[in-house]
Amino acid sequence: MNLSYWEYKTWLSDIDFTIVGSGIVGLNCALVLRKKYPSAKIVVLEKGVLPEGASTKNAGFACYGSISEIISDLNTHTEEEVVQLVDQRWKGIQLLRKTLGDATIDYQQHGGHELFPKSKEGLYETCKENLGLVNSLLKPIFGTTAFQLQENRFHFKNIKEQYISNTLEAQINTGKMMAALLNLTAKNAIRILNAITVEEFQESGNAVEVRTNAFTFKTKKLIIATNGFASQLLNEKVQPARAQVLVTQPIPELHIKGTFHLDEGYYYFRNIDNRILFGGGRNLDFKGEETYEQTETPLIQNQLEKMLAEIILPDTPFEVAMRWSGTMGIGDVKKPIIKQISDNVYCGVRLGGMGIAIGSQIGKELAELSV
Ligand SMILES: Cc1cc2nc3c(=O)[nH]c(=O)nc-3n(C[C@H](O)[C@H](O)[C@H](O)COP(=O)(O)OP(=O)(O)OC[C@H]3O[C@@H](n4cnc5c(N)ncnc54)[C@H](O)[C@@H]3O)c2cc1C
Repeated sequence: MNLSYWEYKTWLSDIDFTIVGSGIVGLNCALVLRKKYPSAKIVVLEKGVLPEGASTKNAGFACYGSISEIISDLNTHTEEEVVQLVDQRWKGIQLLRKTLGDATIDYQQHGGHELFPKSKEGLYETCKENLGLVNSLLKPIFGTTAFQLQENRFHFKNIKEQYISNTLEAQINTGKMMAALLNLTAKNAIRILNAITVEEFQESGNAVEVRTNAFTFKTKKLIIATNGFASQLLNEKVQPARAQVLVTQPIPELHIKGTFHLDEGYYYFRNIDNRILFGGGRNLDFKGEETYEQTETPLIQNQLEKMLAEIILPDTPFEVAMRWSGTMGIGDVKKPIIKQISDNVYCGVRLGGMGIAIGSQIGKELAELSV
């Protein structure tokens, strides 16, 4: 790109903070930096025309982890770590609500419910047995016994007769959340440059030289918030994990309301605008879904449709309106990576399937780390 004097001077010189990635983490990080440094030059670089990661593709669950997910985490993490994970989600959701407001993000607390297919008798029994333990472990965070058994009031088929529900779980409108964050960054004089891919960076003196697909420039600090794409720029253990979704056409008199989890969180669905949004199935092909490609596969999409017909909408005709996929960043443990990479480079990546819950908090911590 052949830059003019004006372009260079206005957009690409004397930059204090450059953030790579305009997802929930990058934008929250930029906003916290702006509060601390009212006159700093803050730039966000985004490879997509719109944000192209998970923040505009997700299901909009404001969730803390379903009961089976928490029990499964207790097998691989210490109790203290699990409490910390849930606490981080709790604080993150409160921060998101405070930053943008419930009306703006269409926050609706209809509760979250885990359904157990009839074939998962063992898992259902384990979850029921551990209900007391999980509730007492998490009571200091929720201030109440959040997980409760509930009758199958939405009349799903081929599942056990009771759900295990978290009454505090909620849903948001993902599009509204991201649009509001983008509006706030614009109001706060944070420049977002779209269709710019960061290809390489190098510390040079007190600054970092950044090479993109369009130009090279210097920034005092470089903050990487590229989540599932992180290992393209950093030597960090972040695997891309594609997540596929579909949404139905509007269904007249749809009575289902809430966020729902099935199969240890590998499937999830919710109501939105009288439709059902349904995603998951990564466990059918872990290897194949370890990809940066944002496409769909018949294997997973057919399974989603089958479960819609057999479990969720067994007596209601439906049509699929749209299908899409997004890229998550995952690792061996559920902890995100927030760290200083070198003198002037920082990262906050690997948010797993919980970025709505923890993204605001991670963005804040990342900003605090880099000042
Ligand atoms: C289908 C799906 C459903 C989900 N459902 C939920 C849910 O219900 N609840 C929940 O809490 N979480 C959910 N998640 C996870 C959640 O969306 C993510 O954890 C969260 O959005 C991560 O935010 P982020 O800002 O870290 O990353 P991202 O939103 O992925 O943002 C990273 C950005 O960096 C950009 N980028 C990458 N590399 C470069 C580069 N080299 N140069 C410039 N830009 C670059 C990308 O284009 C992207 O916009 C879901 C994810 C998916 C995919």
